[in-house]
Amino acid sequence: MTRILFHGGTLFDGTVSEPSTGDLVVENGRIVDVGTGLDGDESVDCSGKWLSPGFFDSHVHVTMDGFDVLRQLTSPFSLSFYLAAQNLKKTLDIGITSIRDAGGADLGIKEAVDRGMIPGPRMQIAISMLSQTGGHGDDWEACGVNVPLFVPHPGRPNTVVDGPDEVRKKVRELIRNGADVIKVATSGGVLSARDDPRHAHFRDAEIAVMVEEATAAGIFVMSHAQATDGIKAAIRNGVRSIEHGIYLDDEAIEMMLRAGTWLVPTLHAPRAVVAAAAAGASIPQSSVDKAKMVAAAHDDSVRRAHAAGVKIAMGTDCGVGPHGSNLDELRYLTDTGLTPLEALHATTSSAAELFGVDGDRGRLAPGQRADLVLLDCDPQDIDNLAGRVRGVYLDGALVSTGAATVG
Ligand SMILES: [Zn+2]
Repeated sequence: MTRILFHGGTLFDGTVSEPSTGDLVVENGRIVDVGTGLDGDESVDCSGKWLSPGFFDSHVHVTMDGFDVLRQLTSPFSLSFYLAAQNLKKTLDIGITSIRDAGGADLGIKEAVDRGMIPGPRMQIAISMLSQTGGHGDDWEACGVNVPLFVPHPGRPNTVVDGPDEVRKKVRELIRNGADVIKVATSGGVLSARDDPRHAHFRDAEIAVMVEEATAAGIFVMSHAQATDGIKAAIRNGVRSIEHGIYLDDEAIEMMLRAGTWLVPTLHAPRAVVAAAAAGASIPQSSVDKAKMVAAAHDDSVRRAHAAGVKIAMGTDCGVGPHGSNLDELRYLTDTGLTPLEALHATTSSAAELFGVDGDRGRLAPGQRADLVLLDCDPQDIDNLAGRVRGVYLDGALVSTGAATVG
């Protein structure tokens, strides 16, 4: 069996330990040894470089490329599949080897990656977000027509549901269609014109049913949750991660600590909405106003949650912002109080644990899958990370030489 030796690099192991110099040996796609003075049949010279576990983004939308209502109305239906291929490559090129698609990507896209037809990170897919009537995923517009962000098709059902019975049936349908995670909106949001991010959506009985059905299928529930009451309802009913978490009060933070709930801040998203509107994208004024309204509360919530010790996993909502800019989130995380090492931990082993794959990947340790990023800067130098990726490996095989060398 071929032993591939990555030698002489500085290893960031995916935990909050300080990086240190060492070798790493890969056999059959898995890390078999980490130490010093190791040997191998083939070698990759890592001297002067840093090696990290492949990065995770816990919240992306690969079928979406910015939010622009006019462009959405005039884009051919199938274009989004080709966009997904392009976005997956952009994601992989910056060292992200595992993603959760929080709505949009269907089983065909995931299978195309798994079969090696298109390059991309490993995917967990939510397919489509459960939303109540008038909720964040209800695409009814005031003009009286539905303008879906993700057009329903045989692999991607419409998921606007009300009442425990409809919820139960829809979760089962999503699981049948290949969902690896169930996504729900337990509050209003920013980009949906007709709701309010400060209002809770779905009642406890509905959320409990989602979690019950997901648990029976061995998968987790992630919740778009911005309103304080919507956040608490999600935590109370066993949702695994709070996405965005804009209005966290002390009680919500306390509940997250007790339940072990993750926070996926996506600080990138409201910033991207404001920037896109300023650059001329056609975004309803109500959404731009909401993005500005939530920004300060959002940063403050993440700061307090981190200080209290809430588990954080890196997620960006890219698709709202440009794919390939995902690692900007690390700067936003450190701006709210995380150290660079903590931000990197959120982007590797903490996210792996959230995904339920920590036994498989997310750390540089024997037994872990050899999903690796080779960087020519210290990963703690978070501002420059994306342009400093020199190698991305899946199962020990080189799949990208980084964004700097591709078009
Ligand atoms: Zn999202």
